[in-house]
Amino acid sequence: MEEKKIPYKIYLDESEMPKQWYNLRADMKNKPAPLLNPGTLQPLKAEELAPIFCEELVAQELDEDTKFVDIPEEILDFYKMYRPSPLVRAYYLEKALGTPAKIYYKFEGNNTSGSHKLNSAIAQAYYAKKQGLKGVTTETGAGQWGTALSMACSYFGLDCKVYMVKCSYEQKPFRREVMRTYGADVTPSPSENTEIGKKILAEHPGTTGSLGCAISEAVEVATTNEGYRYVLGSVLNQVLLHQSIIGLETKKALDKYGIKPDIIIGCAGGGSNLGGLIAPFMGEKLRGEADYRIIAVEPASCPSFTRGKFAYDFADTGMICPLAKMYTLGSGFIPSANHAGGLRFHGMSSTLSQLYHDKYMEAIAVEQTAVFDAATQFARVEGILPAPESSHAIRVAIDEALKCKETGEEKTIVFGLTGTGYFDMYAYQSFNDGKMGDYIPTDEDLAVGFAGLPKVDI
Ligand SMILES: *Cc1c(COP(=O)(O)O)cnc(C)c1O
Repeated sequence: MEEKKIPYKIYLDESEMPKQWYNLRADMKNKPAPLLNPGTLQPLKAEELAPIFCEELVAQELDEDTKFVDIPEEILDFYKMYRPSPLVRAYYLEKALGTPAKIYYKFEGNNTSGSHKLNSAIAQAYYAKKQGLKGVTTETGAGQWGTALSMACSYFGLDCKVYMVKCSYEQKPFRREVMRTYGADVTPSPSENTEIGKKILAEHPGTTGSLGCAISEAVEVATTNEGYRYVLGSVLNQVLLHQSIIGLETKKALDKYGIKPDIIIGCAGGGSNLGGLIAPFMGEKLRGEADYRIIAVEPASCPSFTRGKFAYDFADTGMICPLAKMYTLGSGFIPSANHAGGLRFHGMSSTLSQLYHDKYMEAIAVEQTAVFDAATQFARVEGILPAPESSHAIRVAIDEALKCKETGEEKTIVFGLTGTGYFDMYAYQSFNDGKMGDYIPTDEDLAVGFAGLPKVDI
């Protein structure tokens, strides 16, 4: 193919936009292990999930055979407001690094919620509306998911109840206010609204909450209120399915210019943006059509892939959610303070866990100060102020580009820039003041979480 000049930003035309999501599991020989009922330890059936999740989302969760799923018109219409997202050639970063590597990033922060989470929020709100529900409940840690869901619910006229981890509720008042502006009802968790919240408050007065606890509260509210279901912004198969839009657009944009990536990098909290970004590339890899190096980047303070166990575990502290087989640090693991709130989950998507277990991808854990170093370097030359979560991917992209500088290899690197960091300025402040530390759990710290893993033989 004749080489075309690569523009700074590669956009797709409206007519080139993907009209279907891609279900990666359909191409996996070793399928991810099924979700289990926490009571019976038997694989969950659709009817057991129906009281918690929307019907059509349950069907998507359990469907491991359908390769392509049509994106409903209403969702395509909403996507038009902020998609396609740009695939940017990081010319200025390459120049600053003096690397022969070619770096591209897919930027998902171009919407008010500021991250990729809107891609799944709008889909989940759509299916809730279609089922005739009154509203949905959810938890939010750092606030990105709650913000995205609030936007999606207001678009479809659904009620949205968000349980926000108490320390974030207090530390991130502006995120809270964005949610309220979009009409959501935001409650600091743990709260007195739920049985589990009351129990946790009685046992740990003064606790500032955790994601696992907020999940338990949101699930309880959904299952005890007529016309409500619970929605989750990461980890689940359905979320990876919706997020495949990121990878499908990326692949189409690269194909337009005949570009083949060597390395694909994404940050991993619950695995949704990474699962979405890599989906079509991993599909080719699974089918034996192409090969790519795929790297998940996680914080050294919450190292699910690199130091976790591949085991069945709970997603929540209250242990009422289904059990998922995944790389986990144990639902009782409490990660030390880390500014990348979106990467503090103890577990990982079961699909990505299986792929990692089968060695289709690698994982690297990075320390917080090194991450902010990369974030600052990136912001100064590429202009975008990155989210701390996204900056994990930047760190490894820079490291790989620097390796190319040493070897002279012209590798093509693609990474996911999942969001903007405007609501993370306390974190940047701590870095700028030289007060940021690196917390790495000891083996003894991890042993506590592992000891609480449920005993499951399957
Ligand atoms: C939530 C979040 C993440 C991590 O979530 P995944 O499900 O692992 O993608 C990464 N980046 C940003 C900006 C987020 O908001």
